[in-house]
Amino acid sequence: MDYQKILEDIYQEILPFASIGRQADYIPALAKTDPDQFGMCLKTVTGETYEIMQSDTRFSIQSIAKVFALAMGLSLKGEDLWKNVGKEPSGTAFNSMIQLEMEKGMPRNPFINAGAIVIADLLLSELEDAEAGFLGFIRALAGNDTIDYNMEVAISERENGYLNAAIANLLKYYGTISNDIEKVLMFYFKMCSVEMSCRELANAFLAFTNHTSFEYAGYRLSSSRIKRLNAVMQTCGFYDEAGEFSYLVGLPGKSGVGGGIVAIHPLRYSVAVWSPRLNSKGNSVMGIKALELLTTYTQESIF
Ligand code: GLU
Repeated sequence: MDYQKILEDIYQEILPFASIGRQADYIPALAKTDPDQFGMCLKTVTGETYEIMQSDTRFSIQSIAKVFALAMGLSLKGEDLWKNVGKEPSGTAFNSMIQLEMEKGMPRNPFINAGAIVIADLLLSELEDAEAGFLGFIRALAGNDTIDYNMEVAISERENGYLNAAIANLLKYYGTISNDIEKVLMFYFKMCSVEMSCRELANAFLAFTNHTSFEYAGYRLSSSRIKRLNAVMQTCGFYDEAGEFSYLVGLPGKSGVGGGIVAIHPLRYSVAVWSPRLNSKGNSVMGIKALELLTTYTQESIF
């Protein structure tokens, strides 16, 4: 399969979508991002790398961080993790509170904000230094020790994160989280502020493609848990557009409002794409289109 040519053809074909949508601006520090950027990187399990455009430019991974947090949580708690968070698609926006009150403080899944805040709380309870642990895990997965939090983005989100603060308060009211609200929120925002490039994300997600157990920075996931992590990505990775992404692309994946999307073809490759302009659901317009074309041209998807 000539993946390099396929990526180059995809780029030409998605150019008409280049000015559709806009970058996330509800986090003021992200509003400053140049929206007209694009990068893509595909890494195969056999070690080849294919990339185009700004695949080496770092951006805010935002909700993609929730996959790393869930992997750590599963490694630390196993099936007990699911006592405080569900694994059903929400069908609502990433920051919605509607179900959370109706379902008495039990978030639908770990990839909506409420669920990720619960995982942040769990990591704070389980680890002596959760912030260092989280970074250490990502750095080990990506094979790069310079990956870091962006404090300007984290603080900017904290200063404007009224909805996430409301979610954390509701979770605390129902007893779903146990740590101090401010501490949990700041850790959650820091996780979202991590900056990585498409190349680094594709590298990191290779660990989730193999279905053989792995251990990075002391966190171990069995092949069975990796399978389950992929299942949650498939059903819950794109907020209220998870069905649409499954329909168009046919791969498990996770998006973030920084404009990044990572997807996995089990036992074949991981692929990361980034373009800051988002659709109304908070997913990258060019990113979704690029991945749709990738599975169309290669005729490779999980279905
Ligand atoms: N930090 C973002 C928020 O909580 C993450 C959302 C996302 O990437 O979907 O709003």
